[in-house]
Amino acid sequence: MERVGILGAGQLGRMLALAGYPLGLRFRFLDPAPEAPAEQVGERVRAAFDDSNALRAFAHDLTVATYEFENVPLEAVQRLSQWVTVSPNPLALEVGQDRLREKEFFTRMGLPVPPFAPVDSLSDLERALTRIGFPAMLKTRRLGYDGKGQAPLWTQGDVQPAWERLRGQPLLAEQLVRFDAELSILAVRSARGELRYYPLVENRHGGGILRRSEVPAPHGSPTLQRQAEQYARAILEELNYVGVLAIEFFVIGETLLANEMAPRVHNSGHWSIEGAVCSQFENHLRAILDWPLGSTELVAPSVMYNLIGKLPPLEQLLSLPGLHVHLYGKSARPARKLGHVTLVEADAVRRTEVEQRLRQLLLDESA
Ligand code: AMP
Repeated sequence: MERVGILGAGQLGRMLALAGYPLGLRFRFLDPAPEAPAEQVGERVRAAFDDSNALRAFAHDLTVATYEFENVPLEAVQRLSQWVTVSPNPLALEVGQDRLREKEFFTRMGLPVPPFAPVDSLSDLERALTRIGFPAMLKTRRLGYDGKGQAPLWTQGDVQPAWERLRGQPLLAEQLVRFDAELSILAVRSARGELRYYPLVENRHGGGILRRSEVPAPHGSPTLQRQAEQYARAILEELNYVGVLAIEFFVIGETLLANEMAPRVHNSGHWSIEGAVCSQFENHLRAILDWPLGSTELVAPSVMYNLIGKLPPLEQLLSLPGLHVHLYGKSARPARKLGHVTLVEADAVRRTEVEQRLRQLLLDESA
């Protein structure tokens, strides 16, 4: 019996387990949080990531280990690697945890990025802004996700308040990009080096949080797809990466600017559960277990919405024809991802019609 260990027991861990059960896999999670969505579908060790006794118990009998969120302490992954193979390897995590290293890495790999500069003092910031210009973004280098730890700088008047709010930790300033759209690519590489790419996804964010993903991407093109695949391949091979990797881009015309990467399964790939022949979750498991990868082909055009903050009544969601509903078993809290829904529908008229009804439901909830 193969048992997969997952650091983190959030919704990504939960969906990994749900994808693994049909393949006969078992799962164990390590997570200190009081509420853990994955606990409902697998065994959980509740302890801090840096608790070495807990890590040891967690590692017992595992075939392989992985992680479902990129802020897991690097030392925990390194320690765990003494007992069991951890994929993706800690190098990917190290790069992905620090926005500055990530941008320097992208540049080294030939991925264009918006102009950026490290910021450790107000005078660094002022200097960076003379080069980057307005509008700009001030971001924390570490522990930022879902738009947390960011401040837009539209004019000089925003600089001091943003500095006051984020100071005290390593920061980064970058150009605020006026993009046509945000796209992401999900790529997967197995231990034996097999590579697959999902079609480009078009993502809409609100308040820094992903709201909606659509595949195929309306702003995508065969050229952009090829370009994104080349970038992903360069990174996967350089890092000797095993598992699913997500890279987020801003697109301007036919140019991709890399924003960030996530060394894990990603929210912009949730549509693939029903919308692709083999989902990102199953392919991540296949990759880390060194099994043949599944097809990343689209079943039909798909759209995914996150359910954020408050859930619409389940009955109403279920009454929308063809809608796939995923609830994570979390308690409601503002700005919290509680679930997602996916519509896989080849007929554009029907897709639009169901999507409009869905949006009305989501609007009613946020009112
Ligand atoms: P991040 O946490 O860096 O992925 O940022 C979350 C979201 O904030 C992105 O998906 C964008 O919608 C927005 N954002 C972040 N950085 C920039 C930027 N430099 N220019 C424009 N929008 C940005």
